[in-house]
Amino acid sequence: MSMLNFTVGPVMTWDELLNIGGSQVPYFRTAEFSEIMKESERYMNEFANAPEGSRTVFLTGSGTMSMESAVMNILTSQDRALVVNGGSFGHRFVELCKLHNIPFDEIELSSGEALTKSALDRYNATDYTAFLINVHETSTGVLYDMSLVHEFCKSGNLLLIADAISTFLADPIDIAAMGIDVMITSSQKALACAPGVSMLAMSAKALKRVYANGSRTMYMDIIDALKNGDRGQTPFTPAVATLIQINKRLKMIADNGGVEAEIARVADIAAYFRERIKDMPFEYVSQSPSNAVTALHPTTATARYIFEELKKNHNIWICPNGGDMADYMFRVGHIGNVTHEHIDILIDAIRMVI
Ligand SMILES: *Cc1c(COP(=O)(O)O)cnc(C)c1O
Repeated sequence: MSMLNFTVGPVMTWDELLNIGGSQVPYFRTAEFSEIMKESERYMNEFANAPEGSRTVFLTGSGTMSMESAVMNILTSQDRALVVNGGSFGHRFVELCKLHNIPFDEIELSSGEALTKSALDRYNATDYTAFLINVHETSTGVLYDMSLVHEFCKSGNLLLIADAISTFLADPIDIAAMGIDVMITSSQKALACAPGVSMLAMSAKALKRVYANGSRTMYMDIIDALKNGDRGQTPFTPAVATLIQINKRLKMIADNGGVEAEIARVADIAAYFRERIKDMPFEYVSQSPSNAVTALHPTTATARYIFEELKKNHNIWICPNGGDMADYMFRVGHIGNVTHEHIDILIDAIRMVI
């Protein structure tokens, strides 16, 4: 029996997508593949409610590649960025700004802390040109309040770069309503496809900057990706099979009630898990948990012990935390093909372990 996988990616998926992964990979410089890619771009723009004039490009590389591509193609040393750093993914934006010489300040939040209006009020929006945030800080399970971020960015006319890698299809993300200029996501989170592809959905304002800045990387160049994307192609050989899975998954969502229905399905899985752990010796790490994951601090055993025992004796993966959080907390993902029955099996196993 294969592992029951409650991590945050790669996650368990559906037979339709497994079958694509088990098939021969087709040649891709064809009209048929171009049609698939153009259709996927239309679905992405529709599902994220990207306004007229927006574009989505598909890069071969995990989510971090699109984070780096956004920083390299959209920001310059003339910018000043404000970065929300509430965990390992916020820290990644900080590292990227350092590496690419983008001047920045960071809003440091402690593990699980929500972003508040008073935290934002300590900064003057007009001192900055860009705002970088992970809509969901997956390392601690915090879903940030994007309406606060939107207000702040509007007041200083900031370009908003939003890492929605674990948000897209798990919690509501609306590019138009949230004033997002660049939305980043990737294939192996709530999309539940194989890893290897990440996406950048960009507003007209972000696109203008991309063209004005010019090319400064070959493999991660957005200008080249846009030009090829016009005809449904990519500059280099992409992760073809993963892109075909993405197309299938987007179609399946469209056929099953659309993006709202899919988010409601993930929300139901999260709610069911949280109901089932009510009487268990766990504390919530996050003040404002997302639908994608529940981060928990166990009070009667270490998180590392629970992870190891579930893996060894029950064929179950939960999602461990790394570094100095390894003993303190673990996470349970609610994305991908998780059912109530899977959660019942997990709960029984956790009861035995603790
Ligand atoms: C998963 C994730 C990433 C990207 O990780 P990769 O391993 O590069 O795909 C980035 N940000 C967030 C918020 C994530 O959840």
